[in-house]
Amino acid sequence: MDRTGQCLCGAVKFVARGVQPDKASVCHCGMCLRWSGGPWVALFLESIDFTADEGLAWIQSSDIAERGFCNRCGSSLFWRLTAEGKYQGTTSVTLGALDGALATCGYVRIGEWRKRVTDSGKTRFFADAVTRLEALNS
Ligand SMILES: [Zn+2]
Ligand SMILES: [Zn+2]
Repeated sequence: MDRTGQCLCGAVKFVARGVQPDKASVCHCGMCLRWSGGPWVALFLESIDFTADEGLAWIQSSDIAERGFCNRCGSSLFWRLTAEGKYQGTTSVTLGALDGALATCGYVRIGEWRKRVTDSGKTRFFADAVTRLEALNS
């Protein structure tokens, strides 16, 4: 499906083509936590058409991937695989930037764990966050 979206200030606006609502990921890696302030909740897509890109910037965040953000308001927006190979160019967009996005997301994946969002799934999600807070405080 195609979904419109934008950063917080509107200096980046886009149409995300071929959004795959059944392939949401919730990445808890250290880079995603630092970059977005929490788990990187994102949906994979086929391509992006920008309708406003004056704030768009990319940073090569590792040997294998780059991240797209708004250099005016600071919104973290995209993750894209740059490593050569079959999956090069694979891109995801943060769920929060999509208009009406929450209604599209039926699944979450945390590491190898993937399941339909249910009350138990949400419990697991927040339980993980609590575990991290406890580790910080110990
Ligand atoms: Zn912005
Ligand atoms: Zn990550």
